[in-house]
Amino acid sequence: MIAPRAARLSSWIAILLVCVLSPAGAARAFEQERSEYGARERLSEGPVRVRLAAPVPGSPDGGKEALRRAMTAWGAPACTSLRFVEASDFEPADVEVRFVKEGWPYGRAIAAHTDVQSDAQTGAIGRVVIEISGAWTWGEGEALPAGALDLESVLLHELGHAAGFSHSRDPDAMMRAGIKPGVVRRALAEDDVEGVCAIYPASGPAALRARSVVKRAPFAAGAVLGVGGAVLAGLVVARRRRKTSAVRRPDPESSP
Ligand SMILES: [Zn+2]
Repeated sequence: MIAPRAARLSSWIAILLVCVLSPAGAARAFEQERSEYGARERLSEGPVRVRLAAPVPGSPDGGKEALRRAMTAWGAPACTSLRFVEASDFEPADVEVRFVKEGWPYGRAIAAHTDVQSDAQTGAIGRVVIEISGAWTWGEGEALPAGALDLESVLLHELGHAAGFSHSRDPDAMMRAGIKPGVVRRALAEDDVEGVCAIYPASGPAALRARSVVKRAPFAAGAVLGVGGAVLAGLVVARRRRKTSAVRRPDPESSP
């Protein structure tokens, strides 16, 4: 028979071993949004067509290049299949970016807003509308005007919502909530890369190798973004509202 004290000691050793042997994967912080019925939201396979519906003042080309760079950044990791492409004039867009000059309905603290419509049953993302507030000053490039928000940084973040991400708990993640005027966050951080590669994985052995590299290698941009995180306050710049599309199957229990 084991003495009570020895039994307690062996229990503590067992707990300690469990903690030491726990996988490091518990650090995962990115979050996937859920549909009304709890399905994980996800864009369907294939290129996601994006259209800039109206030019954004403060940008030399109305925001076209800033949007292109943000689209490219999400598809850049070798371990993901996610691809944003420009919609031609003759095809419908999956994601539409609108500049709202007047009558912004979401309040002064919100500078951009993404509306994602997803199927309540499957979580399949349908149409997405990203709105940019005309109540804020926008800028891009090396020197932002005083008080301006960086258009590319905010578009990169909103495209993450369009892809089904909600805000990350990782303070270094590009998908964390909020950004201040003058702050630039134009690259995915390690947490964002892990998220996009987990939700939209590329296929094939090269992609698998790239994924394992992403897990181990420190992400240079993450350190840079960490500096931005230190000055980040409570200002909420990007918020998303979720609607559900018409349910494909009628729900026999709740249909009126
Ligand atoms: Zn956001």
